[in-house]
Amino acid sequence: MKFTEMNLSNEILAAVEKAGFETPSPIQEMTIPLALEGKDVIGQAQTGTGKTAAFGLPTLEKINTENPLVQALVIAPTRELAVQSQEELFRFGRDKGVKVRSVYGGSSIEKQIKALRSGAHIVVGTPGRLLDLIKRKALKLDGVETLILDEADEMLNMGFLEDIESIISRVPESRQTLLFSATMPEPIKQIGVKFMKEPEHVKVKAKELTTELIDQYYIRVKENEKFDTMTRLMDVDQPELSIVFGRTKRRVDELTRGLKLRGFRAEGIHGDLDQGKRLRVLRDFKNDNLDILVATDVAARGLDISGVTHVYNYDIPQDPESYVHRIGRTGRAGKSGQSITFVSPNEMGYLAIIEDLTKKRMKGLKPATAEEAFQAKKKVALSKIERDFEDPAIRGNFDKFKGDAVKLASEFTPEELALYILTLTVQDPDTLPEVEIAREKPLPFKFAPGQAKGKGGRGNRDRRDGGRGRRNDRDRDGFRGDRRRDNRRGDRDFNRRDDKFKKDNRRQDNKKPHKNTSSEKKTGFVIRNKGER
Ligand code: ADP
Ligand code: MG
Repeated sequence: MKFTEMNLSNEILAAVEKAGFETPSPIQEMTIPLALEGKDVIGQAQTGTGKTAAFGLPTLEKINTENPLVQALVIAPTRELAVQSQEELFRFGRDKGVKVRSVYGGSSIEKQIKALRSGAHIVVGTPGRLLDLIKRKALKLDGVETLILDEADEMLNMGFLEDIESIISRVPESRQTLLFSATMPEPIKQIGVKFMKEPEHVKVKAKELTTELIDQYYIRVKENEKFDTMTRLMDVDQPELSIVFGRTKRRVDELTRGLKLRGFRAEGIHGDLDQGKRLRVLRDFKNDNLDILVATDVAARGLDISGVTHVYNYDIPQDPESYVHRIGRTGRAGKSGQSITFVSPNEMGYLAIIEDLTKKRMKGLKPATAEEAFQAKKKVALSKIERDFEDPAIRGNFDKFKGDAVKLASEFTPEELALYILTLTVQDPDTLPEVEIAREKPLPFKFAPGQAKGKGGRGNRDRRDGGRGRRNDRDRDGFRGDRRRDNRRGDRDFNRRDDKFKKDNRRQDNKKPHKNTSSEKKTGFVIRNKGER
């Protein structure tokens, strides 16, 4: 189906075309016709599937710009998502003259009240701030004809259920209600039952949306070796644009500082940062002023960032749904991506649970050695030198140093000068700043699905592999042959029961331990903010 076959007005169609949308995404194809008919819709789809336009286009279609009242209300879980939806709705509704405002906490309510007074046909907001504005009578809902709950499960997770119900109950009953959620936990189903009129269910299967374009890897690594393992891998992979996920706010802060210390262009976002800072970081990331975004699940949820090539799960997510959300940040818009999940030995059970949901095996990846990381960095530096010498802008600056260069050339040999340049450009692995990340408790031991139940509660508990039973091991043997399919990774793919890997590991162990391998005893740099737990 095409957008032009969807009974959308020419104004909206023109905006869709201007946005470069060619064909509707599955959730759009399923939702838009129903919504245009006035039906209530429950849409189940993961992040990045185009939900905003799915509810946005039919909603914009219904707006009467002659009518000054707020005619549509969108409830979203976070400030960023509210802003993002507002921007997208504005983009599609601009030619029609639709006024879209966003409201959220952590930012001046007076300004938002002023903006609402200056006119709003659609309001997008977070639950707390919306209620606040409703109670102050700055936001009137009598004219609302369309109510949208976006990322409903996330709002539930964030404890907004009561707020949401309280907002819904203030919207005229004659409205149309659209609800979107990646998952359908009971309280969300109940919203459908209590507040919606014979809702139509549409669902995009998880398989269709994520994984085919994303190569998924895991690395089994001890907690205290994770950071070095990750930065070495980054040195080797040279990701263009990546997101690192940490489990807690403290983790995000520590990882950000550690990555910066090692020379990466990284910044972090989490819920404790003020709004301005978060938006600044996101802008920098989108504008290529940053290479790495470090984030908690909540901060990154639903963010529309394109061009992410790598997702690093520094901590394996506890909840398999979060995994799908996280890796969904890459492999978007038809581009391929990679995700790498670091798993401590006793968290291996979580890996199996995730794989059960995604129906896809992650491939084991051997950690890069310090030497491999060094060689990779050297290669990057060498090709940068080659490139720079061909860059007229850089060569143009040479003149300034002419006299000094002649003097240096008379004092040192070309080889000495080249050595000096290289030591300046390539970070020496032996003097890499040491980074310690405060120990975070690994996730509690968990059974792999289908293993624990119905077996008298016995048997698996003492398994050292964290419930990764024989079934999985046997399956894993099968993926050795997958190597062929992945040329880039080549021989770094491995199976943990593969003898080659054991040998490699041993070889690594015998080497003089790399200086940067953090250890609890060392008195190195500890990244820890005052007052944090
Ligand atoms: P979700 O809300 O499901 O996470 P978004 O609505 O934020 O997804 O859409 C993700 C990205 O895909 C946005 O950049 C959006 O502009 C783009 N997009 C949405 N629908 C289409 C489409 N039909 N064709 C091309 N790009 C699309
Ligand atoms: Mg969205």
